[in-house]
Amino acid sequence: MQNEKNKTALVFGGSRGIGAAAVERLAREGFAVAFTYVSRPDAAEALVEKLTAAGGTALAIQADSADPAAIRTAVEQAVAHFGGLDAVVVNAGILRMGPIESVSLEELDQMLAINVRGVFLAIQAAAVHLPEGGRIITIGSNTAVRTGHPGTSVYQFTKAAVAAMVKGIALDLAARDITVNNVQPGPIDTDMNAGAIEMLAGKSPMRRVGSPAEIAGLIAYLAGPEAGYMTGESITIDGGWVL
Ligand code: NDP
Repeated sequence: MQNEKNKTALVFGGSRGIGAAAVERLAREGFAVAFTYVSRPDAAEALVEKLTAAGGTALAIQADSADPAAIRTAVEQAVAHFGGLDAVVVNAGILRMGPIESVSLEELDQMLAINVRGVFLAIQAAAVHLPEGGRIITIGSNTAVRTGHPGTSVYQFTKAAVAAMVKGIALDLAARDITVNNVQPGPIDTDMNAGAIEMLAGKSPMRRVGSPAEIAGLIAYLAGPEAGYMTGESITIDGGWVL
């Protein structure tokens, strides 16, 4: 399906996992896609090559979402390269686990910087460029609904902050016909869960974790023309984990 010809998207944190699946899916829908990465130029390069070989247009930008200037520059680079921006997916996020007694100030600040401040700044920088009908999609987590595991307090409240954030921003941008929605995955088969997939599958009502492609399908819907009347929402996609 190529229904988004001549549109462009920017995915923050697109080199691996859910972000990479979103990049691929949006490219399949016809978007020219820019994406950021921070630590894995090899993965970023491989993804650009894969998309280019499939006839798509992709641009990888190294930009740490903990760095406000890098976020701004990434948006400007994407806009300059493609001549505009129609959709932004803010996926970059980190998980550092540990009971409250062991959470260091550095870990706390890092999670807040990437999972909360970075999300707001990415939206703020991108919103300036989005046209009427533009799309903003964040990746939160079903832990915002039910924490589930001890040792995830900081991660959980950063994702709850994202769910709250999209509501206020959605209202700010509604008059411009720009939608802002938050996807809340449950356990997904990515590097973030390396070594824990079997344990997580065992705890899931469906006895499995989700695939990045399943999350990318929802992202593509939210980025597409049929989702224009949904805004400020957080949509949980977790195989019934929080029910
Ligand atoms: P991965 O750890 O598999 O991949 C993370 C991606 O984000 C990589 O592309 C990575 O780039 C990029 N990234 C990480 N930190 C930064 C940063 N500081 N600046 C820019 N890019 C960064 O994560 P997942 O795919 O599992 O998760 C993606 C999102 O989904 C996160 O927000 C996560 O919290 C959320 N989520 C994940 C769930 C899961 O079960 N996996 C469940 C619920 C939510 P690089 O390759 O360069 O390191």
